[in-house]
Amino acid sequence: MLDLQAIRADFPALAQSVHGRPLVYLDSAATSQKPRAVIEAVARFYQEDNANVHRGVHELAERATLALEGAREKVRGFVNAAPAAEIVFLRGTTEAVNLIAHSFGRARVGPGDEVLVTALEHHSNLVPWQLLCAERGATLRVCGIDERGDLRLDELDRLLGPRTRLLAVSHVSNALGTVSPIKAIVERAHARGVPVLVDGAQAVAHLAVDVRELGCDFYAFSGHKMYGPMGIGVLYGRAALLEEMAPWQSGGEMVSEVSFERATWQPPPRRFEAGTPDVAGAVGLGAAIDWLDRLDRKSVLAHERALLARGRAALEKIAGLRLLPGGRESSAVLSFALDKLHPHDVGTVLDLEGVAVRTGHLCAQPLLRLLGLSSTVRASLAAYNTEADLDALVNALHQARATLGG
Ligand code: PMP
Repeated sequence: MLDLQAIRADFPALAQSVHGRPLVYLDSAATSQKPRAVIEAVARFYQEDNANVHRGVHELAERATLALEGAREKVRGFVNAAPAAEIVFLRGTTEAVNLIAHSFGRARVGPGDEVLVTALEHHSNLVPWQLLCAERGATLRVCGIDERGDLRLDELDRLLGPRTRLLAVSHVSNALGTVSPIKAIVERAHARGVPVLVDGAQAVAHLAVDVRELGCDFYAFSGHKMYGPMGIGVLYGRAALLEEMAPWQSGGEMVSEVSFERATWQPPPRRFEAGTPDVAGAVGLGAAIDWLDRLDRKSVLAHERALLARGRAALEKIAGLRLLPGGRESSAVLSFALDKLHPHDVGTVLDLEGVAVRTGHLCAQPLLRLLGLSSTVRASLAAYNTEADLDALVNALHQARATLGG
């Protein structure tokens, strides 16, 4: 059993009122709140160990380097990568996808080739591929979804062709919550020799991710959506692929030997970490992993699933509310439209009731268009949410209807 009160007590930001109401935070898919252990780990780094990494001989530089590499080792364990060199620290999922597009993509994708994405992708796993395809004279293919919000695997099979150079697919959709069967998808792609990049931004806080079990070639995620700090993220890449990849950004720290004419590169991961890294962010991410590891993750998942089912049932009872599908297996997201009310107006009334949700196109404009919407309201869940939060959401929606008509 989870001790929800103890979990909530770890999050100072949850214990506040907004507009005179206790905060009900249902926007964790945008960014989760941070436990005290993470906030303190970041502060402690700056208070005690702050120095630049890898290049100093003094005590603080040594400590900072150990802290960065210790965090890398924690991330390695968290996703069960084999060597820690497969873990690249970046700014977040967006930067990880851009790195793959600019480095791996440019080397592998040429005129007439194809990159395959899905209708469930966040803009950050779509637009970099549009740009790459435009630059290389390649074609972007999009695998559709069915009425339940699941990827059409038969269509995926058809689209995985001899010219497909990469499949880029999200583990969990940020707009619908659909959990895609990544292992089966990777098997299908690999059977045709197609490497797979998984956008795990919405997965890592909820599902136990094992990159070796999934079999994917790349897996990207952001610290700030899994109780860690903003500004730090991770790209896992299979060692053999990272080694063949050219750097994208260059400068200090990623070079091995430099003359005025040319330079040679460090091996991965440092080849992809030009400049001063976000050491405090990495330390904070390590603290977030420790925090998650102290919980029983199976119980957290069961708790979130129970909340999701309860939330779906409660929302379905509200007349005029259109709940978007969430796939056969769904994670932590409730997306909906209320009558003809504009989601921004609904979100504003909810805010006045203390309920924080996301409204808009959720960086998934093509997907929403496919569903006949231009924007939606999204309530998203984390370990610290309670049944009372869902009750507050439902009450606030009735309030929104009363205030706005509809
Ligand atoms: N992919 C998905 C599925 C997301 O939900 C997000 C964040 N909303 C991103 C990618 C981008 O993550 P970040 O902004 O942290 O780079």
